[in-house]
Amino acid sequence: MQVITATRAGFCFGVKRAMDITAEMAKENKEGLFTLGPIIHNPQVIERLREDGIAPLDISDLDAKKVSALIIRTHGIARQTYETISSLGIRVIDATCPFVKNAQHYAKLLQENGYQVVILGDADHPEVKGIMSYAGDDAVVLDGSTSLPRLKPRIGIVVQTTQPLGVLKKVLSQIIEHAREIKVYNTICNSTALRLEETKEMAGKVDVMIVVGGRNSANTTQLANLCRAMSVRTYHVETEDELEPSWFQGRLQVGITAGASTPDWIIRKVEKRIQTIGGGIQ
Ligand code: SF4
Repeated sequence: MQVITATRAGFCFGVKRAMDITAEMAKENKEGLFTLGPIIHNPQVIERLREDGIAPLDISDLDAKKVSALIIRTHGIARQTYETISSLGIRVIDATCPFVKNAQHYAKLLQENGYQVVILGDADHPEVKGIMSYAGDDAVVLDGSTSLPRLKPRIGIVVQTTQPLGVLKKVLSQIIEHAREIKVYNTICNSTALRLEETKEMAGKVDVMIVVGGRNSANTTQLANLCRAMSVRTYHVETEDELEPSWFQGRLQVGITAGASTPDWIIRKVEKRIQTIGGGIQ
């Protein structure tokens, strides 16, 4: 049995950076150090951090007596939340992904220059809520699935980093019918698209796909759904303990991919276990 691991499996640039920042902070001083919500969507990583003394904290539990420093995750936070934390005298360690920061920056720039800001993305996603806080009172969020609301003549567009390019193309073609002036900042990060592309190619060649990552990770679930849609036998696991030898019986090729929040050490353990069951890693 041949086992192939995707070259893009695991941490993306932004997640790796956030984890590195957290590790650096832990070295400096763990006393009173928390992350605002889980730093990434991976239960095993969160558990390790918790054992190491760094726990996730809900914004409603902010207590300056117990919290001295708070790490902000890659999605970023709303400007007002930032101000609230700082006003309590709590140190903010900003691990927002630089690509998300770009989207926040352009939203602010557009609204300062008199554009009505349109954010393409999921209105409920924390990243979009964060961008929204920089975009002015008349900003709107569109996801390409509904008809356009009434918009002003000068439109400035930014995009949630993980949106597919197709959404931007679709909404642009709709807005162009109405607006007098459109300024677009394409703030899409291609990490997700490239990972999906590689996974799709792999799923087209192998007999079994193992998708590794948190069940609460949207991008890992998206990878698993993509593989299933390609009719390849697919298993989504969080750790190597979930792997069943029967999944590999009679299979010639196994593909492994992993979401952006899956650490390398979990991927290596999954590879090793499959090797033990009966595969050779490539
Ligand atoms: S997917 Fe892209 S934007 Fe999101 S954290 Fe990773 S590198 Fe940053």
